[in-house]
Amino acid sequence: MGELDGEVAIVTGASRGIGFSIAETLAGSGAEVAVVARDEGRASDAAAALGGAGGQGFACDVGEPDQCDELVDRVSEELDPVTILVNNAGITRDNLVLRTRDEDWEDVIRTNLTGAFNMIRAASRGMMRRGGRIVNMTSVVGLTGNPGQANYAASKGGLVGLTKSVAKELASRDVLVNAVAPGFVETDMTADMSDEAREELADRIPLGRFATPDDVAGVVRFLVSEEADYITGQVIKVDGGMVM
Ligand code: NAP
Repeated sequence: MGELDGEVAIVTGASRGIGFSIAETLAGSGAEVAVVARDEGRASDAAAALGGAGGQGFACDVGEPDQCDELVDRVSEELDPVTILVNNAGITRDNLVLRTRDEDWEDVIRTNLTGAFNMIRAASRGMMRRGGRIVNMTSVVGLTGNPGQANYAASKGGLVGLTKSVAKELASRDVLVNAVAPGFVETDMTADMSDEAREELADRIPLGRFATPDDVAGVVRFLVSEEADYITGQVIKVDGGMVM
C-alpha cells in the first residue's frame, strides 16, 4: 500500500528527465500516472518503464488548449478522475534578447507558461469537486533572471504568478497549488554544457553538485502527499543552496 493509492496523476513532459523521475516516484507511491509527452510512442515507452501502480502514456502538446481538454477527458475515462497535476513540460531556446527570434520567444512562452495554464484550466473543473494538488515546475532562473534566457526566465517567472493566483482562487475548494524551482539538474536540458561550464557552476552551488532528477521528484511527492496539507501558493527551491 502506498501513500498515493487511489490518486490519479497527470505528469506532463514525463518521457524523460525530471518528468520521468516524478512519474516513477508517484507511481512508486501508489498513484496511477498519465505519462504525457508530445510523441505517443515516447510517452508509452516511458509509461511501460514505470514501477509501482504503473501508468499509461498519452500524447498531448500542452501548448494546444483543445489537446489539454481532451487529455483530461481521456485520463478520467481510461484511468479515473484526475486528482494530481504536475506541469513539468518545458523547453529552452536560449539567446541574447537582441538575437532572439519571434518564434523562439513564442515557443518558450507557449510551452512553459501557456501550457501550464491550459492544463490547469482543463483539470481544475474536476478538482474543484473532489479537491486536488497542482505542482508547477518553475526554475530559480524565473526568480533571478539569467542572461541569454530572457524568454525562459519570463516563462518561469510567469509560472510563479500563475501558481500564487490559482492557489488563492482554488484554496476554498481544497485544491492546493505550489511550484518547485530547481537550480541545475542533470538531464538532456543541461547535457550540452562543457565540463568547464559545469565545474564553474558547481563551484557556485553550496552543496557542490547539480541536482539529480530524483532530488526534484522527492519534493514533488511531498507536495502532493498528506504531509503537505497546509502548504499552498509556495515556491520551493531545490537548488543545493545556490539562491538564498
Ligand atoms: P527535458 O529532459 O528536456 O524533458 C522535457 C520534457 O518535456 C520531455 O518529456 C518532452 O517530451 C516534454 N515536452 C516538451 N515540450 C512539450 C510540449 N509542448 N507538450 C508536452 N510535452 C512537452 O527537460 P528537464 O530537464 O527534465 O526539465 C523538466 C522541467 O524542469 C522543465 O519545465 C524545465 O524548464 C524545468 N527545469 C529544468 C532544469 C534543469 O537543469 N534540467 C532546471 C530548472 C527547471 P517530448 O519531447 O517527448 O514531447
